[in-house]
Amino acid sequence: MHVIAYDNWKPTTLNGRPTFSVKCDCGETIILDAHTVTPDGLVSPAVECTARSCGFNQLVRLQGFKSCDMSSP
Ligand SMILES: [Zn+2]
Repeated sequence: MHVIAYDNWKPTTLNGRPTFSVKCDCGETIILDAHTVTPDGLVSPAVECTARSCGFNQLVRLQGFKSCDMSSP
């Protein structure tokens, strides 16, 4: 379980759909496409970094996540 610090994730949109982007420790921004976030911030399935050299692939929790964040773009 990897906790994403509050400063390293934010709401965004993908094709008009609200979702989240997460900043990996390597600096890469990962869009949570096809992921779900539980009300306590647990993301599933595992988040995989798109940077080829990184290899990050873990279940993550969004620190400070509130379920109401899902509705704000
Ligand atoms: Zn990475």
